[in-house]
Amino acid sequence: MPETMDGVTLIDHPLIKHKLTIMRKKQTPSSLFRNLLREISLLMGYEVTRNLPLQTMEIETPIAPMSAAKLAGRRMCIFSILRAGEGLVQGLLDLIPTSRVGHVGLYRDPKDLQAVEYYFKAPPYLDERFCLVVDPMLATGNSAIAALDRIKKAGANNIAFLCLLAAPEGIRALKAAHPDVHIYTTAIDEKLTEESYITPGLGDAGDRIFGTL
Ligand code: URA
Repeated sequence: MPETMDGVTLIDHPLIKHKLTIMRKKQTPSSLFRNLLREISLLMGYEVTRNLPLQTMEIETPIAPMSAAKLAGRRMCIFSILRAGEGLVQGLLDLIPTSRVGHVGLYRDPKDLQAVEYYFKAPPYLDERFCLVVDPMLATGNSAIAALDRIKKAGANNIAFLCLLAAPEGIRALKAAHPDVHIYTTAIDEKLTEESYITPGLGDAGDRIFGTL
């Protein structure tokens, strides 16, 4: 079972650990990196959706009528933080094909380091959906915090954050800014480098997904 402590769930299934090790290796090519990220996001999605509410519906099997379970309420929304978040979306959609998908694009103004929005698109009724915000790397936490600020401003109030790798600094910052947002990750690495990379990490996730190294 995944370990949950103080608002953070560590999903450290052996298959995930094995796949993550291959992703970390610098020799791993983009095509394999992308496929592994897609597989891991599906496996993570299974844990993240463990507590989705259910309702019953009356159905008929070929043998007999029965009351059967189905997901209750509106479809959940996967929120991709551009651009690396895109690497996690397809695996989650493989698992939950009826999910809606929102996008948030932010860049950091080099002058004042404030997050500036360049794209935002979300489905309606965000206040009635479970929103899963995804970005492979939780490093400083700055972009996750800004994305969550924006998504909350759009009405979301039932939100979790999913990343592949986290730095302790990012977890602390995100929890301080958004204590209501549960964090799911597969590993918590040692720390950030001076350039704000996670170490040992896996490098720049966006570059490795899209082959822009
Ligand atoms: N973003 C990345 O892609 N990698 C890091 O190590 C930190 C932030």
